[in-house]
Amino acid sequence: MSKEIAPASTENASAQPVRVRIAPSPTGDPHVGTAYIGLLNFIFARQRGGKFLLRIEDTDRARFVESSEQMIYDALRWLGLEWDEGPDVGGPFGPYRQSERTAIYREHCDKLLASGAAYRCFCTPEELDARRKQQIAAKLPARYDGTCRRLSDEDVKAKLDAGIPFTIRMAVPFTGSTTFRDELRGNITFDHNNVDDQVLLKSDGFPTYHLANVVDDHLMQISDVIRAEEWISSTPKHVLLYAAFGWPMPRFWHMPLLRNTDKSKISKRKNPVSLIYYRQAGFLPQAMTNFLGLMGGGMPPDVEIFTLAQMVEQFNFARISLGGPVFDLVKLKWLNGEYLRALTEEQYFQVLRNNVFSDEILRQMVPLVQTRIETLAQFGDLADFFFADNVMPAESVFLPKTKTREETLAFCGELLTALEPVEWKSTEIDAALRTLGTAQSWSTKECFMLLRAIITGKTASPPLLESMVVFGKARSLDRLRRFIDAQKKIKQ
Ligand code: GLU
Repeated sequence: MSKEIAPASTENASAQPVRVRIAPSPTGDPHVGTAYIGLLNFIFARQRGGKFLLRIEDTDRARFVESSEQMIYDALRWLGLEWDEGPDVGGPFGPYRQSERTAIYREHCDKLLASGAAYRCFCTPEELDARRKQQIAAKLPARYDGTCRRLSDEDVKAKLDAGIPFTIRMAVPFTGSTTFRDELRGNITFDHNNVDDQVLLKSDGFPTYHLANVVDDHLMQISDVIRAEEWISSTPKHVLLYAAFGWPMPRFWHMPLLRNTDKSKISKRKNPVSLIYYRQAGFLPQAMTNFLGLMGGGMPPDVEIFTLAQMVEQFNFARISLGGPVFDLVKLKWLNGEYLRALTEEQYFQVLRNNVFSDEILRQMVPLVQTRIETLAQFGDLADFFFADNVMPAESVFLPKTKTREETLAFCGELLTALEPVEWKSTEIDAALRTLGTAQSWSTKECFMLLRAIITGKTASPPLLESMVVFGKARSLDRLRRFIDAQKKIKQ
């Protein structure tokens, strides 16, 4: 990749109405990165009298999580980022859920096949895997070797007649390069020998991200693609697709990635990344949007606390700096504190009532504690872990007799990995815990003792798994992660 700074921004160069979108994939909890990019798109649209769209990119069926779409809606609405068009609110360019648009993608793929911009690939996953391994062993870039691009029309027909499954790949030119303009970086050039013959349509008939994204951005008349920097390397493929279809291109703005304090790409190993966590852990949406608005330097340098409306007034995309903005939890907490303390007493009461002591939460706690108490005041003794932020257990509480501290911490790391993909139901958590216990020679009793200590801070509690379900996945895993971090620090 080479870069050169291009002349002044082409923004407003055309009279095309501004239409921007976020296109999250429903693969799990809504991510802070989605909120960050959502906020930028929202601001961009509101500043220019444009439209802000929400498109659900759910074509990766292997990673699809059913509950995720609703969680994305709830999280974005919680932050006040209302969209003008989307699967749930409709709009003139629907459907806005990609799984409902497969016929459109197939039709477009046929056009590419007909023009020679794409070809059918009959290679099996095993063959592809074997070749990829050979390439890696030979220190060559791992990419499709073009086997099926060389098939004659007769070969293709014979394979089709034999019913051999196929994917459709894009025919990237053998020579030359593709240059596109990034509004923040200037021109970026990729040599075609670094661009893979990307699969566009999978053998299950679903498109890949690249095809669906380009077709939809065109059909939905997106003027500006504002997305995270990690998509830069995909953009030459998209540019080639726009050219193959003979379509005009949107402008591209690739935003700097959020980073952990050590400057690595933001990850759940180092920071909670689920918006559900922040909501449940008592962060105010205004503090969160304010914090995300500080990322990237689009606001005037001398202001630190501002509303969404002020961001729409003052945010300047030309000011964005490309150094990775740090998602610093200490700063977010400070900001949240500023917001909480600025509330009136009545507002603070309402926030507590709606978020911490809501009827919904109390109702879920009741069956967990009712059978275990003799006085009402004991509710606090049993449920304190639920309302407290810090429940760090002492070693005497968490360490099983037969395990060392090191073994226990190593096991906690495994536990985090094992629980991350679990669907948050007590039966599923139980199964994951038992499987891991058996594999690592931890008895069920020891596993429960350790997890109970981490989640509740105590040796006895209301039923652990049910409590974890009510407490929520995001917060349970965060408690586990914080426990590991804190214990590592003690060790140093
Ligand atoms: N589905 C992609 C994502 O999950 C969209 C990327 C884009 O905005 O093009 O982020």
